[in-house]
Amino acid sequence: MRASQFFISTLKEAPSEAELPSHKLMLRAGLIRRLSSGLYSWMPMGLRVLKKVENIVREEMNRAGSVELLMPAVQPAELWQESGRWDFYGKELLRLKDRHERDFCVGPTHEEVITDIARKEVKSYKQLPLNFYQIQTKFRDEVRPRFGVMRSREFIMKDAYSFHADFDSLKQTYQDMYDAYCRVFERLGLTFRPVAADTGSIGGTGSHEFQVLADSGEDVIAFCPTSPYAANIELAEALAPSEPRPAPSAKLEKVLTPKTKTIAQLVEFLNIDVKATVKAIVVEGDDGAPVLMLLRGDHELNEVKAEKVAGIKTPLTFASPDAIRTAFGAQPGSLGPVGFAGRVVADRTVAAMADFVIGANEDDYHYLGANFGRDCAEAEVADLRNVVPGDASPCGQGVLELCRGIEVGHVFQLRTKYSEAMGATYLTRDGKHELMEMGCYGIGVSRIVAAAIEQSFDERGIIFSDTMAPFTVGIVPMGYYRSEAVKAAADALYADLKAAGVDVLLDDREERPGVLLADSELIGIPHRVVIGDRGLKEGKVEYQHRTDAEATPVAADEVLAHVL
Ligand code: ATP
Ligand code: MG
Ligand code: MG
Ligand code: MG
Repeated sequence: MRASQFFISTLKEAPSEAELPSHKLMLRAGLIRRLSSGLYSWMPMGLRVLKKVENIVREEMNRAGSVELLMPAVQPAELWQESGRWDFYGKELLRLKDRHERDFCVGPTHEEVITDIARKEVKSYKQLPLNFYQIQTKFRDEVRPRFGVMRSREFIMKDAYSFHADFDSLKQTYQDMYDAYCRVFERLGLTFRPVAADTGSIGGTGSHEFQVLADSGEDVIAFCPTSPYAANIELAEALAPSEPRPAPSAKLEKVLTPKTKTIAQLVEFLNIDVKATVKAIVVEGDDGAPVLMLLRGDHELNEVKAEKVAGIKTPLTFASPDAIRTAFGAQPGSLGPVGFAGRVVADRTVAAMADFVIGANEDDYHYLGANFGRDCAEAEVADLRNVVPGDASPCGQGVLELCRGIEVGHVFQLRTKYSEAMGATYLTRDGKHELMEMGCYGIGVSRIVAAAIEQSFDERGIIFSDTMAPFTVGIVPMGYYRSEAVKAAADALYADLKAAGVDVLLDDREERPGVLLADSELIGIPHRVVIGDRGLKEGKVEYQHRTDAEATPVAADEVLAHVL
């Protein structure tokens, strides 16, 4: 690409609203431009970076056996009502009406749409397993959009969804996706760590986040330096009481079993404090069997999210942790089958539920106004809420350290959460209808660009890896329009590099040399070749990697060897 035919728009100073280095640098280098809160345009330079990330993600998804499709960004409310999320999702869901007054949303995620596809397309076990992915625009009306494309409202996600005849098959694909994610982040040159995570929706044994390690990250990770143990302390934070505990105030009152109420009505009815709530309640399911719901307060949204935990096979008559485990078919003392991913998180969930099934001890009885941590016993399990560096690691092998991370990917074992709610079944070999097991796997494609910069910059600008850089090589001629020799050498090298398949930018803009040099550093082009009359007299050009302190004189035909 010749710069004169491209579009470069760099700034000396970042706009004052930018706080993080990545946000400042993305604006200064002209990768993105702000349209409105949480809405950004990807400028030509930035789009090249985004496309490089997309392509690596696409290659690794294809290699792992996932099949690309593309679903609509706008989704009908009916699907979300079926899954139950229309009521629960809260204000992050951008809702709209069409000209017929029908409700729609702009998809923050696509479990409902893909489950609808699967239930219509999949008839038999012979079609399973299946794994689909898309790379597409999502919208989440974040309470605090910030840090540019790091936490924007509109963003690009790669989301994949897998369907299985049994749990073993799901576990296999989950592992394949986990491995594919490691390859993606390695190829992008990121320093990252997979960590056990809160699913935000309970099911099965697994959820991991992929965290890019950076001090400015919004997430805190507890990890053991001597073992692979690492967990996001997010769930623990969500459970932590924000204020010192007042005296117990819950009162046992006889109330109607709220089987006919929506979750919003239930929350009001049970007088739940959204700032500090985790509460398990039992409601009557569609088939009349009791269903355990976990209500969790979302501090940021000031709303309660409800999640269906499981159908209850054995009536709960008392509420010790072991009683819960037994009710869900697990061994007493075990980690429990209803946890989030990861040991600690799984254990905490079970313990939190043990504290909260107080509402279900007796038919038609619920505690009104009960809150976790205030009215209930402390969890008797590993607790990451107040973890400090040096605490024993739950893996038993060392002591915990804390670091900060940016969540760039998240894999979940959804199990039958959506297939059950939406009736996605397949016919088994013996002709029986069974629910499909399901997994889902997200990568924040646009967030990755910001996260990578957050990990790799200096006072002069961005330092891109070869795999992400908008251009691998920048040719900077000193006097392109002044010196025939410089022009000829620059054009020749440009042609050679292009012929060798290298992404090269020839900066032939009519600007002072200082501007061209500063721009190539700000934009973060990893390899730079400066061509000037003085060097050419000795048959040399100047090669410099973006991380080199100085340039090295090399013969023009040696440049390729430095780049490849
Ligand atoms: P976060 O905890 O940062 O809000 P999330 O857990 O809500 O993220 P997921 O539902 O797991 O996000 O979505 C998959 C991926 O999409 C995330 O791992 C993240 O990389 C990306 N992502 C989520 N929200 C945003 C956002 N507002 N802007 C940019 N990327 C996002
Ligand atoms: Mg989020
Ligand atoms: Mg998260
Ligand atoms: Mg997540």
